[in-house]
Amino acid sequence: MKSNRQTETKKAQCTRCGECCAAAAPSLQKVDLPLFFDHVIDGTQLYTVRQGELVWDNVNDELDFTKNELIKFRDHESGNGCLLYDGHEKACSIYTDRPSQCRAFTCWNDEKFKDVFSGPKASREDIIKDPSLLQLISAHETKCSYRAISRHVKQIPELGEVAVQAILKILQYDQDIRQLTHEKLNIDPQELDFLFGRSLMETIHMFGLTVKQAADGSFLLTTEGEGC
Ligand code: SF4
Ligand code: SF4
Repeated sequence: MKSNRQTETKKAQCTRCGECCAAAAPSLQKVDLPLFFDHVIDGTQLYTVRQGELVWDNVNDELDFTKNELIKFRDHESGNGCLLYDGHEKACSIYTDRPSQCRAFTCWNDEKFKDVFSGPKASREDIIKDPSLLQLISAHETKCSYRAISRHVKQIPELGEVAVQAILKILQYDQDIRQLTHEKLNIDPQELDFLFGRSLMETIHMFGLTVKQAADGSFLLTTEGEGC
């Protein structure tokens, strides 16, 4: 949910038009944790924005690197706003239990939203209690931090293939741990972006890189259509 969801027409009160829900999804504040524990929402509807990830800043309307992780509602696959928004019914499927950012948002004045948004954010550690999952998440953060990737990317001009191989190793680990968690712990693949953040195959674009996977499973890293 973004504060830049203001509608074209100025409104004096909420008409439940749904334009804000169709524009963007909210993140969870700590006060929203009961939604998870009361089974109103689950991990398949969420994803994690990890520390250091480049995302749209909800309040300042600009791209920024996250200082702390965020737990966000997924978007519809079409990219049209919050997953929990039913475009046909023009309604939120959890309206009476909607999270605090949604309750605070009004398209004609974002003061209350900013106030809620500046409060403590929910994190994976607040939600996940299984020690083996927490161990996997911690191992993934250690091996696949955005700080480490950023360092290797900056080293490409100087170290060339050595830095590229270091990045590819991280990409491989990111993919392997998802596969392993799905297969060995029987975790729904839809929940993996909540446990480990979005796949690095997807987010590597923030470094101006793209990655392709060959039929044998190996990766090819490219910049602006050029192999590196
Ligand atoms: S707050 Fe959202 S649902 Fe309410 S009128 Fe504004 S855009 Fe529509
Ligand atoms: S949770 Fe509900 S109210 Fe909040 S953005 Fe999604 S559909 Fe809208």
